[in-house]
Amino acid sequence: MSNLKIATTIKEVRDTVKEWKSQGLTVGLVPTMGYLHEGHGSLIKTSASECDKTVVSVFLNPTQFAPNEDLESYPRDFEQDKVLCEKMGADLVFHPEVSEMYEQDNATFVEILSEMPKQLCGKTRPIHFRGVCTVVSKLFNIVTPDKAFFGEKDAQQLAIIKRMVRDMSYGIEIVGCPIIREEDGLAKSSRNTYLNEEERKAALCLSKAIFFGQSLVEKGETNANKVLGEMKNLINKEPLARIDYVEAVDGVTMMPVDKIEKDTLVAMAVYIGKTRLIDNFSVK
Ligand code: AMP
Repeated sequence: MSNLKIATTIKEVRDTVKEWKSQGLTVGLVPTMGYLHEGHGSLIKTSASECDKTVVSVFLNPTQFAPNEDLESYPRDFEQDKVLCEKMGADLVFHPEVSEMYEQDNATFVEILSEMPKQLCGKTRPIHFRGVCTVVSKLFNIVTPDKAFFGEKDAQQLAIIKRMVRDMSYGIEIVGCPIIREEDGLAKSSRNTYLNEEERKAALCLSKAIFFGQSLVEKGETNANKVLGEMKNLINKEPLARIDYVEAVDGVTMMPVDKIEKDTLVAMAVYIGKTRLIDNFSVK
């Protein structure tokens, strides 16, 4: 018999978490948009190992998608998601309808008013991080976790959530988890399912550029222009690829840097056909 609980209402989550907390148990939260893969799995596993109870939210959040983006076509498979959640050690899956999360006349949003969310992905997705901060802040209020787990794959999102938690005094520990990749190097993503066979091969130019950039930095290259230039050359050799950005930024502020050093984030977004993929590395 399955031990995994499914909740579709905020009240069910609050009641369950209240019961756990009354027993002195710690709670971890893994926010996701569903169509789970091993990347999400590693976050769930880490939460299950660090917290007594793990809540996974599966919610395709409309406020982080612009009208021209892929909200409608985003892949969904809740039956499979439940299987992975259970296998990785989750205790509760929160799978609300949009109407449970947002009143029709919802007018309150959480937004960081610095340059940070305007950099990198924010240049082409100006409302994205406002939607992310709003939904994550709602999930924090609903679940009241001790820790929340986010992937380094979405490095700008991770930095922004850390900043929101600091600025809003959430008192929740934000844990960043390493990028999980396919065997050939491609970072796992729910959006990889959009790629046809030819595009799937072409998509390898992202991870190849990441590994190449990383090797240059490891050999001692600190000039951001040089490293980024080499990475862009590699990607531009791929006819199906179109660069959105390849940038080196400060790992905390997300502002561009000229010199690559400890804590620099080298991040990219590249279109393969119509599919926009992201990847990055941080200098340790
Ligand atoms: P998403 O469902 O795409 O919103 O992702 C939910 C969480 O899983 C985010 O914190 C992502 O950063 C994380 N995640 C997605 N793909 C990966 C991956 N390949 N490796 C590690 N974490 C990931």
